[in-house]
Amino acid sequence: MHIVIVGGGTAGWITAALTIKKFPSHKVTVVESSKIGIIGVGESTTGYFTEILLNDLAGDFGVSHDEFIIETGASLKFGIKHKGWTPNIDDHYFGVLEGSPTRYDSKDLMFYYAFTERSGKEHTMTHTGHIIETNKSNLGPDMNFSRFGHAFHIDGVKSGKYFAEKCLKKKNVTHIDSEILNVNFSENGFIKSLTLSDGSDVEADFFIDCSGFSRVLINKLDESWISYKKYLPVDTGMPFLEKYQPDEDPTPYTTAWAQKNGWLWQTPLLDRRGNGYAFDSNFISHDQAQAEIESMLGRKIEPIKFVKFDAGRKQSAWVKNCVAIGLSYGFLEPLEGTGIHANITQTKTFIDEYLGNTIEETVNAGSINLYNRRIGQLYDDTKDFINMHYMGGRTDSEFWRYVSSGATQTDFVKDLLETAKSRVPSWNDFIRCHRGVGWELYCYVMAGLGRLDKNLARKSFTEQTYNETSFNFYKLTSSLEQEYRYFQPFSVFVDHFRSLRAQKDL
Ligand SMILES: Cc1cc2nc3c(=O)[nH]c(=O)nc-3n(C[C@H](O)[C@H](O)[C@H](O)COP(=O)(O)OP(=O)(O)OC[C@H]3O[C@@H](n4cnc5c(N)ncnc54)[C@H](O)[C@@H]3O)c2cc1C
Repeated sequence: MHIVIVGGGTAGWITAALTIKKFPSHKVTVVESSKIGIIGVGESTTGYFTEILLNDLAGDFGVSHDEFIIETGASLKFGIKHKGWTPNIDDHYFGVLEGSPTRYDSKDLMFYYAFTERSGKEHTMTHTGHIIETNKSNLGPDMNFSRFGHAFHIDGVKSGKYFAEKCLKKKNVTHIDSEILNVNFSENGFIKSLTLSDGSDVEADFFIDCSGFSRVLINKLDESWISYKKYLPVDTGMPFLEKYQPDEDPTPYTTAWAQKNGWLWQTPLLDRRGNGYAFDSNFISHDQAQAEIESMLGRKIEPIKFVKFDAGRKQSAWVKNCVAIGLSYGFLEPLEGTGIHANITQTKTFIDEYLGNTIEETVNAGSINLYNRRIGQLYDDTKDFINMHYMGGRTDSEFWRYVSSGATQTDFVKDLLETAKSRVPSWNDFIRCHRGVGWELYCYVMAGLGRLDKNLARKSFTEQTYNETSFNFYKLTSSLEQEYRYFQPFSVFVDHFRSLRAQKDL
């Protein structure tokens, strides 16, 4: 089967890599336009990105975890520091990559205990939280990663190139640098070929649209748009890069710092920090956004560009012989760095569960409906989660007064907040979808925003369960201390990989 992937951004090359890894006999052609370029933002990943480096693309395929860090300057991420999301704007909380050890129980006693007795330190009952708290890394004493469990801060452009190089070593992968000018259809409505800027046509059996916001293929097949704008009003990103100050070190977490009209992201890589202001353009202009950030940071910045986006998704990711993956299907906003996670989920779901050896084995109405329902749920579910982050009750600007009025609340968030007045929510309150969000991530956010009640959490204990949990918490945090005693401080990870990069003149 011949598959054409349109787009050479993170989504395009990851999709190409995962496709040829699973189906080495399929022919894959990646068409991208260097004239158009890639979006070039998208630096904060989830653990799923690390998983594909370590599992799917390791070994024969040629991807190596440590080589990826060295070649691209990526750094480790163990969670997100959320700063200023409540009326007490100097406050912060951490969201980490995993949930509490008792999160599957209908009463998550370990979290309740941490929440009531170690408020603000809930994250310390997890591996990644312990690492953040102690400023460690998961690099062992022998300078090898003897334990994994991190996400990455990545450079979008360098990562795309890294995956492209690995893919182009395979004999069944072709790369075409050209703009698509026309999409040609067969009588049955399937895509037959694409006309390129040199006038040539590329034919294929199946097409994957990773063309970012251009939506070159999917817009011809599905004109719908499910907008999340009402719930996620932030609609513009202002990315800018900064070198570290001489006395400044990268942090092992992303910072999401709420501002007057949105929030600022800070994603520390080994040699520079990616930053960006995600704001609502109904409240400020581009110039005002830049001025606001410069005044807050106390220094000048140089925005790379202003990226306008409309939070939402297509009705269907898969139509006939075309699947849209990545920004071409949808985008929420950058908070929680869910974009690449969703790309990988879409790609792996399609390749592992739906793509067959032939077009006949692949395309049928049932599979298309099931896939579209699953992917739609993933985006809708994530939309609710991001929406919750804004419910901390800030009222110090027009933007925050609008959001805090409840006008943007999704139904699910409304229900969770209402429930939290009479009991602490739990795992079972969340509809599960593959690689979606659940209590394990909501718990930190709701606690950090002051949306959980300590008395209600405390009431969930009997004297016996309280004593047991208190002892288990002590045992757990002591064992984390023991386990990480010999792991390297985060600064050692940074120095080590900086020196390996320097040896290669990178
Ligand atoms: C402001 C902002 C911040 C973000 N932050 C994060 C984050 O922290 N974490 C995260 O996980 N995600 C983030 N994302 C999302 C992330 O950037 C994307 O999910 C990821 O980069 C994948 O993009 P893509 O490959 O779908 O699109 P792109 O990178 O835009 O690639 C599109 C490709 O299609 C090609 N193309 C387009 N039109 C044509 C044509 N006519 N002919 C030929 N080729 C064409 C382009 O040349 C390019 O190669 C962010 C997004 C935005 C907008």
